[in-house]
Amino acid sequence: MSEQTLPATAHAWHLDVRPAGRPEASGFSLREVELPTPGPGQLLVANEYLSVDPYMRGRMSDKKSYIEPYEVGAPMDGPAVGRVLVSNAEGFAPGDHVVHVLGWRDYAVVDAATAQKVDPNLAPLTAYLGVLGVTGITAYIGLTRFAKVNEGDTVFVSGAAGAVGSVAGQIAKLQGAGRVIGSAGSEDKVKLLVEEYGFDAAFNYKNGPVAEQLAQAAPDGIDVFFDNVGGEHLEAAIGALKLHARIVLSGMVSQYNDEKVVGPRNLWNLSVTRSDILSFMVTEELDLQPDFVRDVGGWLAQGKLHYRETVREGLDNTLDAFLALMEGANIGKMLVKL
Ligand code: NAP
Repeated sequence: MSEQTLPATAHAWHLDVRPAGRPEASGFSLREVELPTPGPGQLLVANEYLSVDPYMRGRMSDKKSYIEPYEVGAPMDGPAVGRVLVSNAEGFAPGDHVVHVLGWRDYAVVDAATAQKVDPNLAPLTAYLGVLGVTGITAYIGLTRFAKVNEGDTVFVSGAAGAVGSVAGQIAKLQGAGRVIGSAGSEDKVKLLVEEYGFDAAFNYKNGPVAEQLAQAAPDGIDVFFDNVGGEHLEAAIGALKLHARIVLSGMVSQYNDEKVVGPRNLWNLSVTRSDILSFMVTEELDLQPDFVRDVGGWLAQGKLHYRETVREGLDNTLDAFLALMEGANIGKMLVKL
């Protein structure tokens, strides 16, 4: 693109009304916004893929959290990968691809200090938002730093067909888990877990009480629970703990809309089994990035790790993609292709 044809405006999704419960499309708008001229140290980027993620639901509320809420009436942001059109920053040139955090829009002026160059010849661009990006490293950190899987352990993963969960279950197996069990919200997902990702057992949590289905899949109990869901899943897992088990709280997607929040009523079982609940935030554990790239990059290259993506088309469909993600319409990482 020559200087003459550079875009003067961008189109960005805005939050207009903070949702109560399930977000409604009427609370958001796609608007044309001015695109500033990139200053020193900045890049003009044409986004090619946008990430939509469950944590964005939290940012739509203004409750105290680990991350700033979206501002009402302002563009939303999130992970994206795009092509550099203009670079005023050392180390970046037009044509480079970068991952950055000004998603939910087509064009962005990005501070180069917040962008990472990625190589589309090493991996598909989409992978840098998923298996080789935030969701992949979340699974890796949770398993390697917190779950500490021992040879032969029984590991239960909730949200197991999603971006984080599918990688978590496979890493547990690669770390020597004896039995990996996954739960997900459809028969197709359950089939995928066993047939493609190598889970030893899987169940559809919509088919009956989680505690009962988990007891069938893990009659001797579990050593590790990697939880993406919370609520009923967490209570069921606490009830199934073996001695000295570990629960790793990755997330609690069942509670992000604040509907019918179910808290575990059996916390005492943590003491009975001398087990731990551990939580972490991916952004605070990024010292593991080199190990993650080595291990996950290696497993992918060796065909030991499989991943799926669900890709919606068009900036117009970004909000729909987010809403569909929260309803379980995705298999693996949910992305939007521009
Ligand atoms: P994802 O699992 O790919 O997508 C969300 C999934 O949640 C949906 O596909 C749906 O699958 C499931 N879901 C929605 N409502 C549910 C409910 N009421 N009960 C059970 N499952 C429900 O998303 P992801 O990006 O991989 O994120 C997974 C979890 O990791 C989230 O909790 C997220 O917040 C967390 N996370 C944590 C960190 C960290 O630093 N700790 C970083 C990134 C992500 P079904 O069809 O199976 O229902």
